[in-house]
Amino acid sequence: MIISTKKGTPQVELDRIVDNFEKQGLSVTLIRGTDYNVFGLVGDTTKIAEKDVLANPWVENVTRVSAPYKRANRLFHPEDTVVDINGVKVGGNAPIAVMAGPCSIEGEEHTIKMAKAVKAGGANFLRGGAYKPRTSPYSFQGLGTEGILDMVKAREITGLPIVSELMDEVHIPEFEEYVDVVQIGARNMQNFQLLKAVGKMHKPVLLKRGLANTIEEWIMSAEYIMAGGNENVILCERGIRTFERATRNTLDLSAVPVIKEKTHLPIIVDPSHATGDYKYIESMALAAVAAGADGLEIEVHNDPPHAWSDGAQCLKPDKFADVIAKCRKVAAAIGREM
Ligand code: PEP
Ligand code: MN
Repeated sequence: MIISTKKGTPQVELDRIVDNFEKQGLSVTLIRGTDYNVFGLVGDTTKIAEKDVLANPWVENVTRVSAPYKRANRLFHPEDTVVDINGVKVGGNAPIAVMAGPCSIEGEEHTIKMAKAVKAGGANFLRGGAYKPRTSPYSFQGLGTEGILDMVKAREITGLPIVSELMDEVHIPEFEEYVDVVQIGARNMQNFQLLKAVGKMHKPVLLKRGLANTIEEWIMSAEYIMAGGNENVILCERGIRTFERATRNTLDLSAVPVIKEKTHLPIIVDPSHATGDYKYIESMALAAVAAGADGLEIEVHNDPPHAWSDGAQCLKPDKFADVIAKCRKVAAAIGREM
């Protein structure tokens, strides 16, 4: 971190600044200029917020040289993290993972039917929401525990590990017992209390990108979970809010190579919530695989017009199988299994 102080800053203030950082275990080098003094801080600066330093009226400017995250940083962990979920691996050179299923869980029979359909189409995880983050309080809110147990039944029959969204800490015991991958949805990406709580969990976490969050904020949220001791974090790009309204969100595919450069964590892409339109899923899924994504999360429903949520972006099982078959060709072309 580099800090410059204003012209004419009294020596006593400079001493105070040096003292303050040294007390925090950093080594401080002062370069004296005619107009400005510049400090170079070396050590673990992750605990220092630029804004706090700028609160000192003698400070002119603060520039961060290193990233504010440590555990997620590829610099300190050059090898790719591979998350193992009941023997199914995500990340590194593992085959590209496919998480698929309905947006909302709609009862046991339907869940089993969807699990069989997505497995036949190439999925290796069943996704489904039992606790739903809905924009309207009058929309269907999810089946809750009953929905989780429907997924458990589907796992017993198909062997597919289950991915479901956790919205509230009070459900952590239930998720520890039944769910294989704990999804943190876009709307909760910066629910720091929830992130701290899942940081103490013993299940891998699928952390979706917030609707209006930068890549750095997203990595900082992963850092929250990892700082709690849970290093099994998979990131999911699911589109961000832009001025564009032709699609539900704008899929930021460049997040894939950026995340891979900056972190060692696996990243998957959700073309369903990114586009909000079943017609665009195929092209965005193909593009995600080509971009180097470690997996896909796709919503699938046998009867999209009657889906309990997100019908407009659900693929029918046959189309889903077709999309995965095409994705496998792209994966083969870039030397990855799927
Ligand atoms: C979902 O996966 O069903 C979901 C609500 O996604 P997101 O949090 O990305 O909107
Ligand atoms: Mn959905």
